[in-house]
Amino acid sequence: MKNTKPKKSEFAYERKNFWKDAPVAEQKAAMDYAVDYKEFLNQAKTEREVAVWMEKLLKKHKFVDMHSKAGAKKVYSIFRGKTMAVAILGTEPLNKGFNMVAAHIDSPRIDLKQNPLYEDSNTKMTCMRTHYYGGIKKYQWVSTPLSLHGVIVKQDGSLLNISIGEKENEPVFVIPDLLPHLAAKEQYSKNLNEAIDASKLNLVFSGMMQPGGEEKEAAKAFVLQALNTAYGITEADFLSAELQLVPATKARDAGIDGSMVVGYGQDDRVCAYTGLTALLANQDTKPEKSMIVYLSDKEEVGSMGATGAQSIFIQDFVADLMAYKGEDNSSSNLRKAFINSHILSADVCAALNPNYPNVHEKENAVLFNYGIGVSKFTGSRGKSGCNDADAEFSAKVLKIFTAAGVFWQTGELGKVDEGGGGTIAYILANLGAQVIDCGVGIMGMHSLYELSSKADIYSTYKGYKAFLAN
Ligand code: MN
Ligand code: MN
Repeated sequence: MKNTKPKKSEFAYERKNFWKDAPVAEQKAAMDYAVDYKEFLNQAKTEREVAVWMEKLLKKHKFVDMHSKAGAKKVYSIFRGKTMAVAILGTEPLNKGFNMVAAHIDSPRIDLKQNPLYEDSNTKMTCMRTHYYGGIKKYQWVSTPLSLHGVIVKQDGSLLNISIGEKENEPVFVIPDLLPHLAAKEQYSKNLNEAIDASKLNLVFSGMMQPGGEEKEAAKAFVLQALNTAYGITEADFLSAELQLVPATKARDAGIDGSMVVGYGQDDRVCAYTGLTALLANQDTKPEKSMIVYLSDKEEVGSMGATGAQSIFIQDFVADLMAYKGEDNSSSNLRKAFINSHILSADVCAALNPNYPNVHEKENAVLFNYGIGVSKFTGSRGKSGCNDADAEFSAKVLKIFTAAGVFWQTGELGKVDEGGGGTIAYILANLGAQVIDCGVGIMGMHSLYELSSKADIYSTYKGYKAFLAN
């Protein structure tokens, strides 16, 4: 009998699986690419640390601080240590438009409160009060090792960089959860989002006491003495400090095939890393259009403030670039530069999780291993608050990816009316630029152990590289 298995129409669209369809050399390149990426995740866990890490890499590749030297073709600027922009200057004037990849380098975490230290009267231990940053599921952050990062500006004006808990010989910190034996009323009777109240996210900071002392709070006195000895700080120095708790664990390979990466803060450091390395991969070309990588802060809390994407910084950076190239940087010319520009809002997307397929609509969801995820829009309900990239620009971007042999797929953030979210796309689109969201699909986004696929990370890198060079 003849095989009558029905064939799919040659006119139908089907996304391609990287491991099934990519050449062996590409698959190896994807695995190799993730090695340095994991190192980056381990060495730069906060926006300040990312800025420092990136600057070091840029200097290695002979990029110069735009404000330090004239006449360079590869420049960058870091603003307040938390946001930055990097450019390779093209031959064309900037008012004809530039190609930009824009990611964010802040991640959800737990900050210390401004007045954090207290001696707990029941246990006589010293604890720290916290205030979470961004959209976290609080239950994930208890009973897990955390490291303390940040800066303290001492009363003499000097800056103290803090990083405790990353090295093997350093202590880590824990917010202890309640044991299941006693959780019936406190936790199990409540909704998941109410089971752990923000006021219960206090850190156990120290257990020792000032020996033999008569002091009223001998445990807290011990900590203050120890901190003063080690760092020369007093309790008042906390009031102005920025101290952040992040997972102390390292990024690792995941899966028996090692095809995935598990690690904290891949939202959105994966797009920051792929974006910057994509720019570096283009550094020996002589582009017509200037290429820019923009790394913003505060995305997880609304992109506001001086270092968020709503700040004047990125416009100021482009205006400075125009002046640097000797072009007219009047307000009108700067507006033209943005209006004529093409921008990828480089942020992660929600990949379909095998445990929760019901929150997605499969044919419009991003899947692991099918490449860079392109989202025409984000937002909630009836596309509320979205930047809806137009058909012309969407088609252009997909064509660039296809021509460069990039594995890509389209997807939206979950089923309609299931929830939603946003990125910085609309902020840059408000300046008149063509903007579309695209980045790596993540499982367990905003958790301590975000999961990503090396196929998608590599495809994203290749996609950004091709887009910037176009
Ligand atoms: Mn993000
Ligand atoms: Mn996020």
